[in-house]
Amino acid sequence: MFIGHYAVGFASKRFAPKTSLGSLILAPLWLDVLWPFFLLTGIERASIVPGITKVMPVDLEYYPYSHSLVASIFWGTLLGGLYFFLRKNLKASLVIGIGVISHWVLDFLTHRRDLPITLNGEERFGLGLWNFPVIAFLVEAIFFLVCLWLYLKSTSAANPIGRIGLWIYVSVLFGLFCGQFSGIVPPDIKTVALSAFLLFPLIPLAHWIDKNRVSV
Ligand SMILES: [Zn+2]
Repeated sequence: MFIGHYAVGFASKRFAPKTSLGSLILAPLWLDVLWPFFLLTGIERASIVPGITKVMPVDLEYYPYSHSLVASIFWGTLLGGLYFFLRKNLKASLVIGIGVISHWVLDFLTHRRDLPITLNGEERFGLGLWNFPVIAFLVEAIFFLVCLWLYLKSTSAANPIGRIGLWIYVSVLFGLFCGQFSGIVPPDIKTVALSAFLLFPLIPLAHWIDKNRVSV
């Protein structure tokens, strides 16, 4: 999934109103933040295989350290624990931890059978919605809109940045999401990893927009 992970961050605000949207979005994106580093250092492997799913032309051959269920629980515990250490807010720490683990669950819906459970197990899981582009699009888009609605119910704009900035942000996300369904095949996996880095500024940007909104 793509905007589905951002969606979890938006919805989290309802359960952790004092926590920055930047942190709340970083948590569900965390596994995809790690992935390009692991890919470029050769710790994990992936390659471009056009048609391997109808939406995503990437064969995720080996990525247990970022994307196994066990790793997601490890990272969720680590980030949730770190947040508790820094902020002493148990509920928000749980929201952060669950947010990290939610990544695996959402990826499970869209990925082909490529998601591992453990670091060295052979079995792979995934429902493969990416082979049904219309359904994949609708499921992720509707999930995103519901979560965004939760965020809008939990906050209100304090100024134009909080209002217009949010809508620009959401439009950019939605545009990138639609691009995923365009059928464009990246030239190589390095380009995929490097373009993942280009999305990183969206995390502090969420923090900044959220700072210009108030909890209601
Ligand atoms: Zn992922």
